[in-house]
Amino acid sequence: MSTVFPVDVESPTCSTLQAWARVPAEPGPAQRTELLARCRDLLARENAVLVAHYYVHSDLQDLALETGGCVADSLEMARFGRDHAATTLVVSGVRFMGETAKMLSMDKRVLMPDLEATCSLDLGCPADAFAAWCDAHPDRTAVVYANTSAAVKARADWVVTSSCALDIVRHLKDRGEKILWAPDRHLGDYIRRETGADMLLWQGVCIVHDEFKALELELLKTEHPEARVLVHPESPAGVIALADVVGSTSQILKAARELNAPAYIVATDKGMFHALQQQNPGKVFIEAPTAGNSATCKSCAHCPWMAMNSLQGLVHALETGAGEITLDPELAARARRSVERMLDFTAAQKRAAAAPAGLVPGIGAA
Ligand code: SF4
Repeated sequence: MSTVFPVDVESPTCSTLQAWARVPAEPGPAQRTELLARCRDLLARENAVLVAHYYVHSDLQDLALETGGCVADSLEMARFGRDHAATTLVVSGVRFMGETAKMLSMDKRVLMPDLEATCSLDLGCPADAFAAWCDAHPDRTAVVYANTSAAVKARADWVVTSSCALDIVRHLKDRGEKILWAPDRHLGDYIRRETGADMLLWQGVCIVHDEFKALELELLKTEHPEARVLVHPESPAGVIALADVVGSTSQILKAARELNAPAYIVATDKGMFHALQQQNPGKVFIEAPTAGNSATCKSCAHCPWMAMNSLQGLVHALETGAGEITLDPELAARARRSVERMLDFTAAQKRAAAAPAGLVPGIGAA
């Protein structure tokens, strides 16, 4: 059973077309060298650390690693920023990532290369409509994906990322809880199939993963019988059904490192190919197809809002303080509760995995 909401991602503050128009031109070699040098100096001068997502430009990923920051999925980005000693966090990703970093580190300055970088899932789940949905289902536990605004997180009981969503929903199901899930319908549907939990689904999509095509993927598989298929669960069910491994960005990276196939067809944002190639120099990575008769190609497997992150934007943010995330403290405190519930749950899982047999610490109270 699902609930259908109108989800219009083409009438927000920064539509996909506007986002592509804001992506700066690729710098030439000399300008790139100069920009990188300025970024290094500014990060040091501002006591700042760069926290980057796998989907942003490879220059930003490399710079983050080189300067002591991190490249990670949204769960690890949140943890890293919270635990790092820097007084300024520069979050290279999309706005909900900056907001999550801020709510976990209210005493730190959080900057973004472009504050308009958003996400179709966040845009497709307005806080007032989400609150009305929760009000209509008071008997259900509201679980929201990290790709939501601080206001939606503040109304939710739990926040999850794609790397921990399955475990958290299983945990809630074991406690007999029925779930309201928002906003990604493909991820929600996948989790419902895997766990058997009673879930009502918001009907949002990621415009990148929603474009992968099952029929074309099947054809590609026949052309590359040696390849394993790695799929992010924001993809449609028909694409997930063809996967050898379904997982978050970090789980896809882990699978590519650990499986011994020579080639991989990968259904996620093409920004990921940088880390995949770096970590697996001898292996071949092939983009899963987005083309086909029904292709809209708003993204063509690359998120326009992630693409707005640039070295130029990073320099501008650090030089001027532009792109600073601010949050109402009361709202941030409410949102933080559901994010910390997720962080506590995953930390308890890690402790449980590391504990000697028979010693299993308790896991997350709602
Ligand atoms: S890739 Fe998809 S989920 Fe990620 S920020 Fe872009 S639109 Fe949102």
